[in-house]
Amino acid sequence: MMLMQSDIITVLLIAIVIGLLAYLIKSSLDYSKERKEIMEKESRPVKIIAVASCQQNDYTMEREFREGDFIGKIDGACPKCGSQMIIIKIYSLYMETPQKSFKLQLR
Ligand SMILES: [Zn+2]
Repeated sequence: MMLMQSDIITVLLIAIVIGLLAYLIKSSLDYSKERKEIMEKESRPVKIIAVASCQQNDYTMEREFREGDFIGKIDGACPKCGSQMIIIKIYSLYMETPQKSFKLQLR
């Protein structure tokens, strides 16, 4: 009788372990699928633009973001009046599709 009971428990345990494994495998597959979708979205080419404005507000320029840029950073001198240029905005752009971005690359 004791042996029968422990056999049933063993079978139950195995069933639970198999169920858990199946669940883990399924969720890890779902996770990697999700992850892949996120990667695909993230791999869309993005351009980060920093906008700098002269302290006298007579000149504004946009350029590509460089490492270490932040809003409020002094970014050189104004070509018009020589005052300090300060970064006032940083934003990202999705690049257009390769066919359309041809014009951008010509720059
Ligand atoms: Zn200026």
